[in-house]
Amino acid sequence: MTLKEILNQAREEGWALPHFNISDAVTLVGILEAAKELKSPVMIGTSEGERRFIGAKQAVLMIKEYREEYKLPIFLNADHHKSVGVAQEALDAGYDSIHIDLSVHNLEENISGTKEIVAYAKLKNNDISVEGEVGYLVTESSKIYKEVIEIPKESLTKPEEAARFVQETGVDRFAPAVGNLHGIATNVKKLDIARIESIRSLIGNTAMVLHGGSGTPDDQIKAAIGAGINNIHINTEIRVAYAWALRTFLANSPEETTPYKILAPAIEAVRAKSMEKINLFGSVDRA
Ligand SMILES: [Zn+2]
Repeated sequence: MTLKEILNQAREEGWALPHFNISDAVTLVGILEAAKELKSPVMIGTSEGERRFIGAKQAVLMIKEYREEYKLPIFLNADHHKSVGVAQEALDAGYDSIHIDLSVHNLEENISGTKEIVAYAKLKNNDISVEGEVGYLVTESSKIYKEVIEIPKESLTKPEEAARFVQETGVDRFAPAVGNLHGIATNVKKLDIARIESIRSLIGNTAMVLHGGSGTPDDQIKAAIGAGINNIHINTEIRVAYAWALRTFLANSPEETTPYKILAPAIEAVRAKSMEKINLFGSVDRA
């Protein structure tokens, strides 16, 4: 099945496809063990920085091998690629999916750059899924904020702009700003469910993506899926699980030097966290 088909299925059946970020093979193994055990399709994302660390072509080949070996729908997404040039680089390397994030630009520039990537992707392979974004998230990925973050109203996606953006660009996935934040802040995240519903009613069959899913209470995640979200990004919670397991192991076993022994608890922590999210998103047994 293609990514587009799986996202359609998620929308029709009312669940969300998990998107987890990686910057190394250790995290990837933990996530894929969870996906395999629960028979869940999964998207693996690399931001520009993560992609530079792991290597674009290396990531493409690893995903391809795991997809064949595990017989699972696993897709590689270039997450938050912030210019047409870097998005093209990821597509040239063979990514299955691209998130062109021009949300810091004005709507006109955002539409024209996103259209360019939609056309570029289509020329390569019609199965490539393209995501665009309108509205902006005020925090950075994977930071843990000690303070309460104010979300300015003007940063939220206006439903009529979402409709115009989707119509004019022809994206397969749309990422709104609906009270979500990257990273984890002191405030309890509060999603604007009514805004999600109203955007959903205006964008037809386009998939809708929730970024910054980490630290969002489970009931809000469920409400967001009910309101029309089909794809949810988790990065920070995976990184926290990994780092905590690694720190604990190193503190308790200062003599150990074998990487696969040192990293085994990190894989296990990532696997457990991924399983928790797959269960929450309802993607179990959808592969
Ligand atoms: Zn994001």
